[in-house]
Amino acid sequence: MEIIFFGTSAGLPTKDRHTQSIALKLEPYATDIWLFDVGEATQHQILHHSIKLGKVSHIFITHMHGDHVYGLPGVLTSRSFQGGEGKPLTIVGPKGIKAYVEASLSFTHVHLNYPIHIIEIDDQLDLTIDQFEVQARPLNHGVPCYGYRVQAPSTPGTLDVAKLKAIGMEPGPLYQQVKNHDTFEFEGVAYDAHHFKAPEKQGPIVAIFGDTKPCDSELTLAQNADVMVHEATYIDGDKQLANDYHHSHIDDVLQLITHANVQHSLLTHLSNRYTKEDVKAVEQQLKASHTQSFQFVQDFDAYHF
Ligand SMILES: [Zn+2]
Ligand SMILES: [Zn+2]
Repeated sequence: MEIIFFGTSAGLPTKDRHTQSIALKLEPYATDIWLFDVGEATQHQILHHSIKLGKVSHIFITHMHGDHVYGLPGVLTSRSFQGGEGKPLTIVGPKGIKAYVEASLSFTHVHLNYPIHIIEIDDQLDLTIDQFEVQARPLNHGVPCYGYRVQAPSTPGTLDVAKLKAIGMEPGPLYQQVKNHDTFEFEGVAYDAHHFKAPEKQGPIVAIFGDTKPCDSELTLAQNADVMVHEATYIDGDKQLANDYHHSHIDDVLQLITHANVQHSLLTHLSNRYTKEDVKAVEQQLKASHTQSFQFVQDFDAYHF
């Protein structure tokens, strides 16, 4: 899979960074794209990339602050003209997302040429979408705000060809049966398929957070994640002050990475007061003194996993 950042700034855009916008490419598990938050310049940024809005099947909103949703009406409208015609779109977000979408489309006289389905989260949500397990859990940001945990589907284990040949089964269409089922029959004998393949491979886990100060559900969302996307609004200065504003300090995030055993973290939503040079310098310093695997991201950064 791949995560692409179209906006990485906090609150306001800067000359180098737009407000929050993240795409999750589901390949090789599915061909759809999911968006997480749709900051103001999302549709402009996507024009610089091979992603097409028509491929976006789901949009997940963490919370209703402008730096996370001001791009939504434009994305919805343009999707009609960029391959989205007739293709359903699901939007998941906090209470208020439905009224916001309906009002912005209605006041601007937009008639979408595809159906939209809006799900408002009430406290928390568990969804299965095409074998992907999605969990939304509440964060602590002063307004209703959610983090999402996405678990990709498991894939069948590799076949043990030598063992299959030993029972007389040569490579062919039957191998698919062994691969995809618990049992199979060959020349009148029933077999347990698990004896002929490696265990199922669990799909990767991605945790994508909205703005938050440290809270209990962070651990639930991030536990053993392969990749975590987290805000690090404050990368220096006073931790207490960051938390008073319902945001995370870099020390909070580094602690979470360790407690939740996260493999790699992509840190975004850095305060717009930091320049590129500030960020580079802090990153180098932190990497010299910490063992956690992480990086600060900029617009158009992409991460494969
Ligand atoms: Zn924000
Ligand atoms: Zn916010």
